[in-house]
Amino acid sequence: MQNQIKNIGVMTSGGDAPGMNAAIRSVVRSGLNSGYGMIGIQSGYQGILDKKFIKMGLRSVANIIQRGGTMLKTARCLDFLDPNVRTLAVQNLRDKGIDALVCIGGDGSFRGLHALFIEHNFPVIGIPGTIDNDIFGTEYSIGFDTAVNTAVEAIDRIRDTATSHDRLFIVEVMGRDSGFIAMDTGIAGGAQEVFVPEHTLSVDKVIERIQASIQKGKLSSILVTAEGQKPGRAYDLAEQIRKKSNIDAKVCILGHIQRGGVPSARDRILASAFGAAAISAFDQGMSGYMVALQNSHIGYMPLADVINQKKNLEEDRFKLTQILSM
Ligand code: ADP
Repeated sequence: MQNQIKNIGVMTSGGDAPGMNAAIRSVVRSGLNSGYGMIGIQSGYQGILDKKFIKMGLRSVANIIQRGGTMLKTARCLDFLDPNVRTLAVQNLRDKGIDALVCIGGDGSFRGLHALFIEHNFPVIGIPGTIDNDIFGTEYSIGFDTAVNTAVEAIDRIRDTATSHDRLFIVEVMGRDSGFIAMDTGIAGGAQEVFVPEHTLSVDKVIERIQASIQKGKLSSILVTAEGQKPGRAYDLAEQIRKKSNIDAKVCILGHIQRGGVPSARDRILASAFGAAAISAFDQGMSGYMVALQNSHIGYMPLADVINQKKNLEEDRFKLTQILSM
């Protein structure tokens, strides 16, 4: 150890994602291996304020790698937007002897983490965990792979009934502000069209393409849409299509089933690598970074960059959704 850190706190914050448990396990075991004391914090930033601290040993994280959700619980804590509350939080951490913090979460959680780093010079490292995969600076975040696999499995099932009845289905997946889940689900599920918040797709054009497909003998189709600002976008689309073309579209909203479930092997491996990299960062005296997947390798990105930039959809990949659906 090249630093003064004795005890590291670990917590999950914001939306839960499959694979967070695998990350907690890796952080705790890597930390113990490096000689730190490890302390779990329950329910994110709220847990720091409520002093929900639990000592973690090697066995505390046994039998969790295969479980969805987070054994440390997660929460949203609006009080944390207040700098005075953050000062109290740092006091609580120091009183408990916690002198560094690993937070597994999304963009919002990293804003809180960055504030602790800037305002109090508190040693912090973030681990990207969100099914949305919308965090700048990392190719993948924990939970995305599982969420996409869950959605693709659902589409495969829906395709059976769509084909049997020659039907048009609209499947709504998660993604309020970002279309990563919709894009990858659309590609892997062989969707006809993908609607994402980043692009406006003309319903008239989509109807034209559906009708052209019918002419070419494609009698059933699946459209994938990200939920956008409000869930239920799929119903609006179905209504517009029905009004404009008389084509009846069935709607399936996948909702929260995409958040839960057994994490994929890929998410477990990513989480395990991220957890070890977070501890390695403290070993090296680093702070204020997020661990990241960059060019398929584990790296680090300053939290300041992460929270100030928006991750864009890969346009070439998005175009695939249209090319391959003809
Ligand atoms: P996610 O981390 O999944 O993006 P949220 O956006 O809900 O989820 O953020 C999780 C928590 O992070 C919030 O409930 C709040 O406690 C904290 N947080 C979010 N934004 C900020 C901010 N600007 N400053 C301080 N803390 C924040």
